[in-house]
Amino acid sequence: MKKRILVTGGAGFLGSHLCKYLLSRGNEVLCLDNFYTGAKENIVDLIGNPYFEIIRHDITFPIYLEVDQIYNLACPASPVYYQKYPIQTTKTSVSGAINVLGLAKRLNIPVLQASTSEIYGDPAIHPQSEDYWGNVNCTGIRSCYDEGKRCAETLFFDYHRELGLDIKVARIFNTYGPNMAVNDGRVVSNFIVQALTGKQLTIYGDGTQTRSLCYVDDLINGLVSLMSTNEIHEPVNLGNPTECTVLELAESIIGKTKSESSIRYESLPLDDPKQRCPDITKAKKMLGWEPKIGFEKGINKTISFFKEKLAINRIN
Ligand code: NAD
Ligand code: UDP
Repeated sequence: MKKRILVTGGAGFLGSHLCKYLLSRGNEVLCLDNFYTGAKENIVDLIGNPYFEIIRHDITFPIYLEVDQIYNLACPASPVYYQKYPIQTTKTSVSGAINVLGLAKRLNIPVLQASTSEIYGDPAIHPQSEDYWGNVNCTGIRSCYDEGKRCAETLFFDYHRELGLDIKVARIFNTYGPNMAVNDGRVVSNFIVQALTGKQLTIYGDGTQTRSLCYVDDLINGLVSLMSTNEIHEPVNLGNPTECTVLELAESIIGKTKSESSIRYESLPLDDPKQRCPDITKAKKMLGWEPKIGFEKGINKTISFFKEKLAINRIN
């Protein structure tokens, strides 16, 4: 059945893919964004669709709308951007959660929170399963994001326990793909842009830290299947468990782009997690979900996206 769906952060990397997917399934989509890290460019193809609306709004302020479902994605996800305005980052996570939960409560509708693997901090267990409580610094430079997202999860579960709200919490692990911004600052986009423009690839630390990279289409499928369940009121990891070191990633991107770029080592930012890999047993069992797109295919699509984007930027 056609639904009217609110996507906060809908002009961002994940949000733009989600809006497009939901529209393609015959829904009406309200894309709410303050355009801090998002861009109209990401949703330009959707503008003109009569079932798509853009609302310029900062989710730290309440909003009154009539919708059937909410995906709450509003929040900068790149360390560079969430650390630039840390107070606003925490407000976006916490006040933003209070505002979307208030809206969901008034309408008595399902609401999904885009949580993160960062709630595990610099994890002491590996891979990370949902029952791990994490190893998080509450006073460091990543805390605005980590603790903001942790508090948002607390709010979501309390709205469920106290008020019976139909909440879903997806703990998203590093995801990449088209529509990441050229200057986003996250590792995949940085390395691809550096490789394509002949600049040195910047590895922070010695490059032995690990991440596990999920292609965006897989992630969107995971979010939508989580939203479509009625029974799961517990956090669910969504990510691709294929793990690699940052150095391996840099070398692979240099190879795939046939770049002449070399590598430059820079200092490792404080509290940068040393290892990260999702245990997705729960998602497999409860949602029947697992990633389908391998690194090879995903990274090639992403490289093609950036090639095109950089060519357009050069022309303009
Ligand atoms: P993004 O920065 O591309 O998108 C975030 C969007 O939220 C942007 O369009 C931004 O303008 C908007 N936004 C920020 N603050 C806002 C505010 N106060 N009010 C309204 N809009 C606001 O990041 P993304 O990668 O698309 O991430 C989307 C969500 O998924 C975030 O909540 C992030 O924490 C979560 N997440 C993403 C990843 C990932 O690897 N991409 C991993 C874990 C969690
Ligand atoms: N990183 C790097 N060079 C870059 C950007 C990031 O070496 O140009 C490292 C970063 O220190 C971290 C990993 O890559 O260890 C992933 O960083 P990202 O910002 O993508 O996301 P995070 O998982 O840390 O939130």
